[in-house]
Amino acid sequence: MKPAPFEYLEAKSLDEALQALASNEDSKALAGGQSLVPLLNFRLARPALLVDLNALGELAYLRREDGKLRIGAMTRQAVLERSTLTARHWPLLHKAIAYVAHSQIRNRGTVGGSVAHADPAAELPVALTTLDARFRARSPRGERWIDAREFFVNQLTSSLEVDELLVEIEVPPPADRSGSSFVEFARRHGDFALGGCAVQLSLDGDGAVSSAALTLLGAAPTPLRADAAEEFLRAQSIDTGVAAKAADIAVEGVHPTGDIHGSSEYRRELTRSLVRRAILAAAEEARDQASKGATA
Ligand code: FAD
Repeated sequence: MKPAPFEYLEAKSLDEALQALASNEDSKALAGGQSLVPLLNFRLARPALLVDLNALGELAYLRREDGKLRIGAMTRQAVLERSTLTARHWPLLHKAIAYVAHSQIRNRGTVGGSVAHADPAAELPVALTTLDARFRARSPRGERWIDAREFFVNQLTSSLEVDELLVEIEVPPPADRSGSSFVEFARRHGDFALGGCAVQLSLDGDGAVSSAALTLLGAAPTPLRADAAEEFLRAQSIDTGVAAKAADIAVEGVHPTGDIHGSSEYRRELTRSLVRRAILAAAEEARDQASKGATA
């Protein structure tokens, strides 16, 4: 199919983009187009005006400032994937991006587009939620910061207002002596996963968990922080029994939506086993980091 007719504006500045979006409530921002263009072609989205952000170089950057990672919304996913800064200091993001689609899509798709699209099966929102990222939104009315936990409100729905653009993602540094893991299962590499999990945890001097963050992918309409499992993990020394118990807690009351690729029950069991594996992998990496720190 072909898209329904729409007006097109290539914004030359962020202000021009914001004014255009605010002047027409039936408008949509166009970033990499990897999710929006298929929606247009199937006529599942029929905006009157498309505001193209691709000329906004001011929104394409990835840098460390005051220890925090700052990612401009128009940064291509491939830039994140190839960043040595991210690989070294925010390895969870590096692990997550490897599962996103295919290289052609990552070359075009943006980090901000993936976040704003708010797909609960998308990897970056899950990793960013685990890392307690914050999102900077701008509109002609001003700007505000939104915590990841408040940003994703439903399937394909974020808390951005119609006149707001996501302009920046801020990620705090992980604690010392920490490890991370991202695991998921998809029918083919690059497909949206049937289930998954991101874990970031840190250890104290005795090897017990001092902090834990755990987010489920595709288990709910939004990335789902497993608060009770995180609480359970605190002060524990992780072994297979602890990881299995935490995984049981993480999927308690979780009812993923089933479809022809997997029933709700299947996805829940899948998630349980992925969580267990993810906790063990993150703990192993954290122990490794802790022993390197001790010998440094
Ligand atoms: P667009 O498609 O341009 O926009 C998506 C939505 O976000 C639109 O509603 C748009 O208006 C809005 N938007 C974009 N930028 C902003 C902004 N700065 N502020 C406010 N709103 C904004 N993704 C995964 O995570 N995992 C996968 O496994 C995966 N597989 C894929 C497989 C295929 C075949 C395809 C085509 C895509 C796949 N994707 C996957 C989606 C891909 O990652 C997209 O690039 C991403 O979801 C959207 O980014 P984009 O820059 O292309 O945004």
